[in-house]
Amino acid sequence: MSDPVLRGIGVGSAAAAGPVARMGDPLPEPPAGAAAAGTAQQELGRAVAALAAVAAELNRRAALAGGEAAQVLEAQAMMAEDPSLAESVAARTAAGRTAERAVFEAFGEYRELLAGAGGYLAARVADLDDLAARAVAAATGASMPGVPESDTPFVLVAKDLAPADTAVLDLAKVLALVTAEGGPTSHTAILARSRGIPAVVGVRGAAGLAEGAEVVVDAAAGTVTVHPSAELLAEVAERARSRQAALAGAHGPGRTADGVPVRLMANVGGAGDLPAALAAGAEGVGLFRTEFLYLDSDTPPSFETQVEAYRAVLAGFPGQRVVVRTLDAGADKPLPFLPLGEEPNPALGVRGLRAFRGEHRGLLETQLRALAAARSAAGPGAEPADLWVMAPMVADGVDTAWFVDLARGFGLETVGVMVEVPSAALCAHEVLAAADFASIGTNDLTQYTLAADRMLGELGPLQDPCHPAVLRLVELTGAAGAELGRPVGVCGEAAADPRLALVLVGLGVSSLSMAPSAIAEVRAALAAHTLDQCRALAAAALRRA
Ligand code: PEP
Ligand code: MG
Repeated sequence: MSDPVLRGIGVGSAAAAGPVARMGDPLPEPPAGAAAAGTAQQELGRAVAALAAVAAELNRRAALAGGEAAQVLEAQAMMAEDPSLAESVAARTAAGRTAERAVFEAFGEYRELLAGAGGYLAARVADLDDLAARAVAAATGASMPGVPESDTPFVLVAKDLAPADTAVLDLAKVLALVTAEGGPTSHTAILARSRGIPAVVGVRGAAGLAEGAEVVVDAAAGTVTVHPSAELLAEVAERARSRQAALAGAHGPGRTADGVPVRLMANVGGAGDLPAALAAGAEGVGLFRTEFLYLDSDTPPSFETQVEAYRAVLAGFPGQRVVVRTLDAGADKPLPFLPLGEEPNPALGVRGLRAFRGEHRGLLETQLRALAAARSAAGPGAEPADLWVMAPMVADGVDTAWFVDLARGFGLETVGVMVEVPSAALCAHEVLAAADFASIGTNDLTQYTLAADRMLGELGPLQDPCHPAVLRLVELTGAAGAELGRPVGVCGEAAADPRLALVLVGLGVSSLSMAPSAIAEVRAALAAHTLDQCRALAAAALRRA
């Protein structure tokens, strides 16, 4: 018998089974005035044992890791066993401190010394903090803070994942992700989708999942089953097998079962993403988020820097479509070099194209000039990419005409816009009369249609791109495109969901752009459905109350 099932928002369509490894919450500082439970000698014994356990664990992992990683881990183990640290701990337990407080204070003393030394030593402060937290956890029996370190695959359970956590996480070991917070466009969800890891986010009750408990995470159903039955485990294994077979069986350009082409493209943030896009068989780039190149820049990128960055991406897809989005600054993507001022509602403020219609227009003009130059820089004899350029956060036909005129003035031929503000979808006819194409950004379109901030985990259930209100806006845009003979694609996260991709095609979308890891599954889903079946799925989805 399986235990009760926890529910949340599924990301992806796969399922996986495995043991829970919890991400430990940051530990509170051990209280300064707490009375020690044991004698000074006993407290010292506990502290020494904790430090030895931490060192042993680090040495064990070093032996498994080998290479440079082993050296780093061994150096950390040596720090934990440093005799002068042990002396400092002993002095503190002798003065009546608990084992955990003594360890905490002794590391704190070292920390100050290192931080004050500057340079290389100061950079080791984070290692020391990590060691201190481990030693305190070992002394108190609490779970280790931070991402789990396991030698065998696990289901990661966390409150939510920050970019800093995932940077140190060995994703090859993560069978599935379960988070208590986060919505369908949260960092966790985007990461899971880009790595093809099944995830269920916003799971109430995730905090109660015990370390080591066996669970089944079903992203398609949005469920987490604790202590799954043998039948459920067999079903998950069978699903994995048939999924692998379906993925292996679908090759080449995207098309429906009755042969209607649906171009499957990659979302990229720079040339570093090209190998994955090419390996997935992407038919070009459907969204190049150029602002991703400059999220850390304190000064605007020069014309030359931009030409090189754009040329590198264009070179990856000779003769293929590469859709470049001009800088999308503001709200969830602040650019340090672009001061947009304090606003009460940044997502509704001066962001996207709006940020460049006033005093910052020069930045947009430099970018458009650099894009035109990058296209011409393909090199002698090389086939250039088919460069399409589009603007984010366009409100209507007036915005569209302004951008199209500006871009054409720089010699850019195929100019379009993103449809991610509901007004642009409602005015799709005017928008597409002025533009060469439209690409629907379902992440923002969902946020604005349902008035649900995409950054807020607790609004996860409202951030639903399958909502009929969002789908009606997609339908309106698709219909305007069909009437005017202008291509309409989708480049938001919805395109990466194989079931929703079918609905989008049924609503008149002719291309889908997504994280490269999602392409194979979407290709397989399309190959298994005719256009009429996609239309029937779309009609059913539109009827959902
Ligand atoms: C979108 O809003 O759907 C989109 C693709 O753009 P971003 O996620 O970069 O805002
Ligand atoms: Mg957007």
